[in-house]
Amino acid sequence: MDPDDRRFATRLTHLARPGVRSHGFVNPPVHRGSTVLQPSCQARIDNSKRRFERVMTYGTQGGPTHYALEDVVAEIEGGTHCTVVSTGLAAVAVPLLAFLKAGDHCLMPDSVYGPARGLAEGLMKGWGIETSFYDPTTTAEALAPAFRPNTRVLYLESPGSHTFEMQDVPALSALAHARDAVAMIDNTWGIHHFQPFAKGCDVSIQALTKYVGGHSDILLGSVTVNSEAHHLKVRGAASAMGHYASPDDCWLALRGARTMAVRLKHQEEAGLEVARWLQARPEVARILHPALPEDPGHAIWKRDFTGACSLFGVVFQPRYTEADIFRFVDGLKLFGIGASWGGYESLALPTNPGITRTATAAPGSQVVRLHVGLEDVADLIADLDQALALLR
Ligand SMILES: *Cc1c(COP(=O)(O)O)cnc(C)c1O
Repeated sequence: MDPDDRRFATRLTHLARPGVRSHGFVNPPVHRGSTVLQPSCQARIDNSKRRFERVMTYGTQGGPTHYALEDVVAEIEGGTHCTVVSTGLAAVAVPLLAFLKAGDHCLMPDSVYGPARGLAEGLMKGWGIETSFYDPTTTAEALAPAFRPNTRVLYLESPGSHTFEMQDVPALSALAHARDAVAMIDNTWGIHHFQPFAKGCDVSIQALTKYVGGHSDILLGSVTVNSEAHHLKVRGAASAMGHYASPDDCWLALRGARTMAVRLKHQEEAGLEVARWLQARPEVARILHPALPEDPGHAIWKRDFTGACSLFGVVFQPRYTEADIFRFVDGLKLFGIGASWGGYESLALPTNPGITRTATAAPGSQVVRLHVGLEDVADLIADLDQALALLR
């Protein structure tokens, strides 16, 4: 069987394993290091010219543990090259700064991950890079006038990680290319369920902190591309700014990746079961989850995604106050209160009020974001049921 024909779960268990080089041990070792000894003075000069092609010359260019994880992530997303960096937010910053310079313009969806907006409105603005925010649910036709002659990046995030609007990525990426801009997506929600390069993107960002790590014990990010030229740009920018990922964290992410297909499949189903149960509750106005047929983004999700993760939003009836919602969330016993997602444990987080919007309206009432972990679903539903009783 051609390895390319194997299914996702099979590939995840076999990729980037060391074979005989590791004395038969199943997993690769952790390579830590700064100095990489060179065979001669001339070889050092020659090798250094090829440092972005995995010719190892110094620790900051990465080593075998980084490369193993990069190969796995590139495979997950269908790209050709991946660069791992210390956090998901660093993975957002590196390609933005690699592809934008003073005088350039960037387009970002209004639903974008908050710290990405913070970067655009803070440091990037100070460096003379202007960003406009657009309605994430826009058609390509409606977005076209927002492009300027100096627009170099169209940033995408589908669905948004707080409000879950779906974007028409193929149409928007095609528009970006027609205007000589790079289409860059934060694919942390999509993981392998959304294949960014097959859908027209040039750069894909993931917070490996989330489902790839899978155990809430690391911070890590990846930038994946599908061309040598884009790889050199991203790798060059990461290197110039001194970005690096801990090899120990890369090793943990590799371990997470081995079980990810099974975790995701379970969490997708568990998340949908919890979402449907909540949908039927009188306290709930609507659920923000593109895999539900009632969701306004469902048609795009169905067209472009092969599955869902277990992160979604719960919009409460407008009669509830923030104090009510705090009482509900504080009353949950199995859902922890905390940022991040993608681990084995369930989380609940009041997100609205607090969503920043400059181009579109934030949801009008209280929103709680839920991450469904690996606990028994019936126990999670019982927990939600007892906490909802506190609203009465
Ligand atoms: C968490 C997250 C990030 C940032 O990842 P960190 O590793 O926490 O820095 C980026 N994008 C999205 C959509 C996220 O949810």
